[in-house]
Amino acid sequence: MRIHNFNAGPAVLPEEVLLEVQKNLFDYKGAGLSVMEMSHRSAEYEKIITDARSALLRIMGLGDDYVALFLQGGASTQFLMIPLNFCPDDKVANYIDTGTWATKAWKEAKKIGKKYHIAATSEDKAFTYIPKTWQLSENPAYLHITTNNTIRGTEWKINPDVPAGVPLIADMSSNFLSRPLDFNKYDLIYGGAQKNIGPAGATFVVIKKSLMERQNPGMPSMLDYKIQIENDSMFNTPPAFAIYVIGEVLKWIEEKGGLEAREEYNRQKARIIYDILDSSDFYRGTVVPEDRSWMNVPFRLPSEELEKKFISETKAKGMIGLKGHRSVGGCRASIYNSLPLRSVEALTQFMHEFAKANK
Ligand SMILES: *Cc1c(COP(=O)(O)O)cnc(C)c1O
Repeated sequence: MRIHNFNAGPAVLPEEVLLEVQKNLFDYKGAGLSVMEMSHRSAEYEKIITDARSALLRIMGLGDDYVALFLQGGASTQFLMIPLNFCPDDKVANYIDTGTWATKAWKEAKKIGKKYHIAATSEDKAFTYIPKTWQLSENPAYLHITTNNTIRGTEWKINPDVPAGVPLIADMSSNFLSRPLDFNKYDLIYGGAQKNIGPAGATFVVIKKSLMERQNPGMPSMLDYKIQIENDSMFNTPPAFAIYVIGEVLKWIEEKGGLEAREEYNRQKARIIYDILDSSDFYRGTVVPEDRSWMNVPFRLPSEELEKKFISETKAKGMIGLKGHRSVGGCRASIYNSLPLRSVEALTQFMHEFAKANK
């Protein structure tokens, strides 16, 4: 019996994928060894990583003007690599600050001495909404946004317009591949795999090739997108096993009907849980309705005491990960791509019972 996993990340993976990985763990498709033991230069592994890269671009609907990489260091290393590579000293790195991770992104630009500008922020209301207007600086190097705010539970529902010639860069860690999107509006998309598309250890980076013309010279090798592209993500040993599992998740997404099917499924899950928040005077959502995330749903109960009780009782019912991030408190259900509908149904049924019993 598997538990209902509402963890924010690392998070739930599709059961079909886990079983497929298990089946091939000891002897990968008759090769006589596990993917964990393979040379990353072997023909078997070459196929695994090449297939994963092409599946990623195919699912996103992107052509060969984009390139997909699997790197290490998490989304957090991208916070550094982006200004290092793409903000020259005479330009300004622009950010929209929607809280926590978005804040960490611009702080990294600041740390390495880049000029930076906060084009908009929702800090005035504790990051409970997505700014609807923004003001770019003079000479912008790029605009960076965070499409889903894992801790605050807000999500961009549009792709922001940027003036021609200003690259648009997005941290999509926590809503990547959860619905169709005009990915071709973006020049660089990245995220940690561990929320929506795989296990921890690999970072996906999708770059529009034309962005590379703007790269700063003299980058350290491991932080140099050009070197990573020229070496097909294998300048050094890649996170081989994590990339393999990502490849299996991507196959699963395609077999299940691609991003349209994900959208339908995720919409349904989100609706069930937001319906409770809207119809109850016991539970309270913390985000303005139009900016609600389909992936991370934060909510409050009438008191912190009841929140503690709620979390402890959900654990007893086989549901984990419902405690809000320590920086904001309350409760949060992460309902990513791979979370089955039945987990959300189990949670909402319990929410009804708990409200009745504790009114
Ligand atoms: C989790 C998360 C990160 C941090 O990812 P790491 O891979 O742990 O560095 C960054 N941005 C967002 C939106 C996240 O949800």
